[in-house]
Amino acid sequence: MGTKANDLLIGHYLDAARFMLFAGEIRDLFPRIKALDQRLLALHRFVHVLSDPDRGAAFIADRWVWSKDEVSDWETTPAHALQASEIAQVIKKFNDANPGHRLKAGSEHRDLGDQIWGWTHNAGVKTNAPEYLTKARVEIKRKAKDGTPRYPDLGDVIDPVTGQHAFQIGHGGPDLVALSAAALLFWPAALLPATIGLIEAERFQAVARFIEFLKKRFKGSGTITVAAPGLSAHGTGRAIDFRVHDRSGKKLHGAGGAANWRSSGFAAQLKAAMAVAPHFHGPLTAPDEPWHYFFDPDA
Ligand SMILES: [Zn+2]
Repeated sequence: MGTKANDLLIGHYLDAARFMLFAGEIRDLFPRIKALDQRLLALHRFVHVLSDPDRGAAFIADRWVWSKDEVSDWETTPAHALQASEIAQVIKKFNDANPGHRLKAGSEHRDLGDQIWGWTHNAGVKTNAPEYLTKARVEIKRKAKDGTPRYPDLGDVIDPVTGQHAFQIGHGGPDLVALSAAALLFWPAALLPATIGLIEAERFQAVARFIEFLKKRFKGSGTITVAAPGLSAHGTGRAIDFRVHDRSGKKLHGAGGAANWRSSGFAAQLKAAMAVAPHFHGPLTAPDEPWHYFFDPDA
């Protein structure tokens, strides 16, 4: 089988996996990433988060990017008012403790389009995505002992009756709640066919096998400095980047330069000022952003 045919097959398994695991906006995200290698690497990152016991579906649902309308709606809520009042208190405490300096707060919202752009233009993604595709090409060619392919052609995947993708399982609604159902798909592969009557066991197991491949840790030679598209800490209204200005308004420290934030003492000063904001936690540690705090109205 040539590379072209292999990549076509990888694309079919990628589609089956996204229909099986995700619903709504998350499911629809992947086709927006045009290059197969970058799309595959994004799916790997999502599956990795989904299978991480410390993050899982709840993390994805919590982080999933808001639309511009959702941001506007949030700005009318009591939670947003609470956020604004806590930020005002932090600024007062910081400015009182650091005469001659002024703390400012605010973050640019990054919508899904921005985040997809960030993913496809990230140097680490550009390095690692082709490496990951190379691994997938090896995987997709695997054969069983008797010589039959481990990843057979999936055949016709559109159900003629419903028009749905055959691997779309019971949770095709737009709700992110469906994600918790998706988490159930991390069952032992042997149990899967019994639960899903519609798809032949063999095909189902092959897709489950592909998901096992996606779950495996992958470390490329590049360093990826962006979140998977849709999962940026700045996709919702709840992440705040702080900046330090001097009296004249000149910016001394912004979003960048973690080492300078620390050596100047402002990382510690900000942390101390955050004590008056009980609904904030942070700073963000991965990546290392001592200026970045999260607001959680339920905390
Ligand atoms: Zn930030």
